Amino acid sequence: MPSVLITIHDVAPPLMPKVERLWAICAERGVKPGLLVVPDWHGGSPIEGDPACVAWVRARAAEGAEIFLHGERHDEVGSPRSWRDEVRALGRTNKEGEFLTLGYDAARARIDRGLSRLRALGLAPVGFVPPAWLAKDDTHRAVRDAGLAVSEDDARIHAFRARRTISSPVIRWSARGAFRAYGSLLQARMRWTLQRGASVVRIALHPADLDHPATAASIERTLDLWLTVYPAQGYASL
Ligand SMILES: [Zn+2]
Repeated sequence: MPSVLITIHDVAPPLMPKVERLWAICAERGVKPGLLVVPDWHGGSPIEGDPACVAWVRARAAEGAEIFLHGERHDEVGSPRSWRDEVRALGRTNKEGEFLTLGYDAARARIDRGLSRLRALGLAPVGFVPPAWLAKDDTHRAVRDAGLAVSEDDARIHAFRARRTISSPVIRWSARGAFRAYGSLLQARMRWTLQRGASVVRIALHPADLDHPATAASIERTLDLWLTVYPAQGYASL
């Protein structure tokens, strides 16, 4: 059955008011989005230090939201890019590709640390999504070896338990400046034309999408559009 998978990225203490707003936008439409949690946003906001944030995430998980690990700190501090990494990240992120440069061992170590922190909070992560979807194959192998069911980049979902790789370009916005904001509006509309009929559609919401009124409005329009034709499902449906 065709389905739309909806997630909220960047669930971390400093971004909570916007995360909660995005959750409300989904809840108004009867959707429980997946939550991509960052244990230590930019290396300065350990989630354990914000009991209200932890309680909120736990409560959403208890309601049925799927939990994903989304990097350890999200940014690239301490991981210098090679020129190849620069090319892969071109125009994609403002140094928010924590896993972009990492090989297997480094990726696995961060994933293992992140998973133990989330589990220590009583959460049960089902998958991993690299920040900005930027990672080498090493990271996806590390996710599989860590025993998680899912990992993804911006074009594909790796469903390890089902042994499937599903092609599914993600619908997302960028509110970084008016040019990008309006560009992402066009892109969201284009996806409607191009991907209607696809079996799995992904919609990724970011707290920063609410920074520009045009992207904020486009999120609501786009959700309404897709939800008229596709049921919202969890990644477990894969
Ligand atoms: Zn992110």
